[in-house]
Amino acid sequence: MTAQEKRILEIVTGLSDDIFDFTSRLVAQPSTLGNEAGAVAVMNSELQKLDFTTSLIPLESEDVLSHPGYASVPWSISGRNNVVGTMPAVANGGRSALLNGHLDVVSAGNGALWRHDPFTPTEADGWLYGRGAGDMKSGIAAMTYAAHAIRKAGFGLAAPLTIAAVIEEECSGNGAIATLAAGYDAEAVLIPEPFGPTILTDQLGVMWFKVHLAGRPTHVLQAGSGVNAIEKCYPLILALREFEEELNHDRVPLAYRNTHHPINLNIGIIEGGDWPSTVAAEATFHGRLSFFPGTDYTDIRNRLEATILRAAEKDEWLRRNLPEVDFYGFRSEGHSLPSDLPAFQVLDGCHHDITGIAAERYISTCTTDLRAYHFYGKGQATCFGPVAENIHGTDERVHLESVLHVAKTYALFLARWCHLVE
Ligand SMILES: [Zn+2]
Repeated sequence: MTAQEKRILEIVTGLSDDIFDFTSRLVAQPSTLGNEAGAVAVMNSELQKLDFTTSLIPLESEDVLSHPGYASVPWSISGRNNVVGTMPAVANGGRSALLNGHLDVVSAGNGALWRHDPFTPTEADGWLYGRGAGDMKSGIAAMTYAAHAIRKAGFGLAAPLTIAAVIEEECSGNGAIATLAAGYDAEAVLIPEPFGPTILTDQLGVMWFKVHLAGRPTHVLQAGSGVNAIEKCYPLILALREFEEELNHDRVPLAYRNTHHPINLNIGIIEGGDWPSTVAAEATFHGRLSFFPGTDYTDIRNRLEATILRAAEKDEWLRRNLPEVDFYGFRSEGHSLPSDLPAFQVLDGCHHDITGIAAERYISTCTTDLRAYHFYGKGQATCFGPVAENIHGTDERVHLESVLHVAKTYALFLARWCHLVE
């Protein structure tokens, strides 16, 4: 490690309180779907305070709606923004970098089940608790201050740097698509998702769907003449479970052969009926299904639809009242990358020089915004982030020491990939 690099790492260590404080201020913003404006404002003013040039990038624009990676969604995208901060190059000769993180969080569920209020960030025993503490506001704070540390140490970069804080990572991927459509891209892209200090090489495709069924309403005393739409969901869900099993054993790519049950179906919402004593006239269930890299979205969508319709054919009522299958939100395909891409090697070297050990490779069973950069960007993109627990669950928390490690590794990466200018 050079003396310049050591100086930068000392600066990052000195910024640790700022990193944790910024994380807490972001966690205090309950940025669930449609409610991201507060977190976007906190991010925007932090970037400005640290002397980045910022722009708000709306989800609602012609360039986004016509982008091949755009996923149609049933909720409003009007007035909802991503925020980008840029640090221009002060010389030539380096390689450009983009650091991406998502500001949106999933619902906290029943807050009463949490040890601490989910949107009141609370530190205990070296961990920070709160919805989004791990996924992924601490990563955003770490990457922002890693970039800031370069300048605070008295350096510039020999290539442009972009910081993109996006929304809709948890439902469509449209935020990252919007920033790409606005022209923000780079030769290396790092995303501090909370999968730990590993280099992500493979991720699955993910799709969302919903199935609507009609029944025949009656009073329960004549239940024999009614058809309960909620109960008619059962055979369809069972058929999807069989489809999930089939997918787990169908053309499994090499990267996933040692992963137990990589393909997962989740039925996440079920709604229907309107009265305990009335046979339910309607029901809808919503789900998420993953699929292997190399599988085309249209192909998996057609297979899912055929699975539902085949199951419906076996039921006298459903055969005459076919369920409606719709698709919205995620339509993200998976991808696999070689583990020795130049950006990955540089990142691995940074981790090694700080810890003395090589970074493990990570094969993911979910999707991230890497998908946008892989399919529609120009760079080598991966995730490397802090250690978190219970993301999307109760008592989500992030290990603060690991957040500091991400900030140090990213700062070192920027120094080596973009090249320092004194
Ligand atoms: Zn995430």
